[in-house]
Amino acid sequence: MVERRYPLSLKPRRHIPVKVKDRLMVANRHACCICNQPRQPVEKHHINGDPADNAWNNLAVVCRNCHGLVTQRGNLGAQYSEGEVLLFKLQWEERCKTASVDEIESPLEELSETIVIRGGKHEEYPFDIKRGQELVFAIEANDELDLVICLEEDIEEWLDAGDDEEESDEDDFEDEDDDEDDERPLPEGLWQKTGVIECSDRSFIAPKTGSYILLLVNWDDDPTEVTVDAAVWRARK
Ligand SMILES: [Zn+2]
Repeated sequence: MVERRYPLSLKPRRHIPVKVKDRLMVANRHACCICNQPRQPVEKHHINGDPADNAWNNLAVVCRNCHGLVTQRGNLGAQYSEGEVLLFKLQWEERCKTASVDEIESPLEELSETIVIRGGKHEEYPFDIKRGQELVFAIEANDELDLVICLEEDIEEWLDAGDDEEESDEDDFEDEDDDEDDERPLPEGLWQKTGVIECSDRSFIAPKTGSYILLLVNWDDDPTEVTVDAAVWRARK
């Protein structure tokens, strides 16, 4: 049974312009400026705590773990001060500028964005992945989503099987036979997880070279805001 756990986000947050975000991710090699760990999902942290201030030097790339260490309210109990985070950022970006990919890993492809998926809709993120390469991703949604990783051909079949079968009976009561979703199962995938609000630090290693899709499905009637972070990394040696 789907329960609405959070209202749709109404934070006074100005979304970081896509180009700035892309540049920021590249400048940090999609890695946390504090712990420098590659192959971890990352987030943008507003150093001074103002989510509308998207000046370059106010944006640090941090992993979820380190993000927790810098965002305690009012900086009480935060392990790093604003000044320290800025220093981590500047030093890491400086290193990334000159280091070769042997010294500091770089993702082959990356994506980081916040979108709204309307009720009954889905979003597809395509990635060309060679055998052994690793897709690392994290999803954070305001309401439950189903996630699937499948090959492009599976998705085409799924879409052909019947798009736009939207039922929008405004029936918010608990209905006993809850598995309406079974009427249209998720596409056959290589990995799937249902009812996801937060899914962090997921790793998928491609069993063969192909075009893969990370599919996010919102079965609910209400829109859901979701933040997606994903990167494809070289096969581990
Ligand atoms: Zn970190």
